[in-house]
Amino acid sequence: MAEAVVIGGGIAGITAALDIAGHGIRVHLVEREPSIGGHMAQLDKTFPTNDCSMCILSPKMVDVSRHPLVTVHTCSEVKEVSGKAGDFTVTILKHPRFVNEADCNGCGDCVQICPVEVYNRFDAGIGVRKAIYKPHPQVVPDIVIRDTEHCIECGLCYDACGTGAVLREDTEKTVTVKAAAIVVTTGYRTFDPRVKEQLRYFDLPDVITSLELERMINASGPTGGRLARISDGTTPRSIVFIQCVGSRDVAIDRPYCSCVCCMYAMKAAMLIKEKYPDTEVTICYIDRRAYGKGYEEYLNRAESLGVRFIRGLPAEVCGSAGDMTVRVENTEKGEMVTIHPELVVLSVGMEPADDLTGLTQMLGLQADTTGFLSIEDQKVAPVRTLVPGIYVAGTATAPRDIPDCVAQGGAAAMQVVKDVYRKAEAWSL
Ligand code: SF4
Ligand code: SF4
Repeated sequence: MAEAVVIGGGIAGITAALDIAGHGIRVHLVEREPSIGGHMAQLDKTFPTNDCSMCILSPKMVDVSRHPLVTVHTCSEVKEVSGKAGDFTVTILKHPRFVNEADCNGCGDCVQICPVEVYNRFDAGIGVRKAIYKPHPQVVPDIVIRDTEHCIECGLCYDACGTGAVLREDTEKTVTVKAAAIVVTTGYRTFDPRVKEQLRYFDLPDVITSLELERMINASGPTGGRLARISDGTTPRSIVFIQCVGSRDVAIDRPYCSCVCCMYAMKAAMLIKEKYPDTEVTICYIDRRAYGKGYEEYLNRAESLGVRFIRGLPAEVCGSAGDMTVRVENTEKGEMVTIHPELVVLSVGMEPADDLTGLTQMLGLQADTTGFLSIEDQKVAPVRTLVPGIYVAGTATAPRDIPDCVAQGGAAAMQVVKDVYRKAEAWSL
């Protein structure tokens, strides 16, 4: 049976894997995190409908993990690729989980008893997790991972586990698979705003990123959906969003628009206004890019809910913890505005994923000047690369929103299906 490899288990990768497998082709879905789902699993709601993100994503995560033709490799990376279109050999390196995947039933007894708490990367650093943990409650596969870096080897989890699934020792393993085609859906990482020192991220506790806010307003996030200032846990009465942090900024070599920041800021602002109508929410922007279907109406809704928009970006965040000041020129009115926000949200942009360079070299792909993967032709071949048999989808090639990632995942899958069946036809001639 023909096989394919999909690298990256976010929404684009999951869509590609399901569509390929739906055409009778075996798929290996390779994800380096302990769970599939990608960034979409971190989001609260999705624009422009405000549907719950996990309500859309979670059934797809479960479907792909249960599909008889899909093998999900978590904690895994592609280490080597050889061969050519129709006949790739792919070596997958599986990092140790220190938990026997076959024996763990996800009950969480080990998590409860573990005495160690560390910051949870999935919660963008504002929540904690144990040393043995699930990054979030809806992980797929529904099993834990033991983090040996923070584990103090107290031994409690070994005794607590009724199935003996926690392993004291575990090793890396490699799996080699054959693949007719490969789809790269390695996603993105968010811009690190420490680069822009004047915005005081990490310096002032109540300057947070949009991803941290996203986890905070998420009902299943670390605060249970309660908006709270990091400094003192109170609900902020005035919030300022600063747009285009790490986007459209030639001074820091990020000339491109990250596509989603205007919309996600409006979404968060609206959710806050609905829940905390007395909180003043201001979005400082360069342009309001509401380009998609239903997006302009979404913007109008934000305005009707009382979200204030100021065309202009503050150069810096001034003051101290508990007494912040933001000064911005309203370029529409030609006047300076001074705000004393209790929370500043930096709408951070998208960057190419970590370690994309290694993967690019391994696969013989190219990156464009922004660092995202190059494609054959932006208009007529948006998921094809210059290497036959290797396709790309989602934010691996450029910032894009969820509907576009889904569309690209499906498009890349169809390229794989076409390749496989064309080859099968050639064999039968
Ligand atoms: Fe439950 Fe054991 Fe798995 Fe922990 S390792 S979740 S105790 S089955
Ligand atoms: Fe937590 Fe490590 Fe103790 Fe297990 S052995 S309970 S992971 S600290």
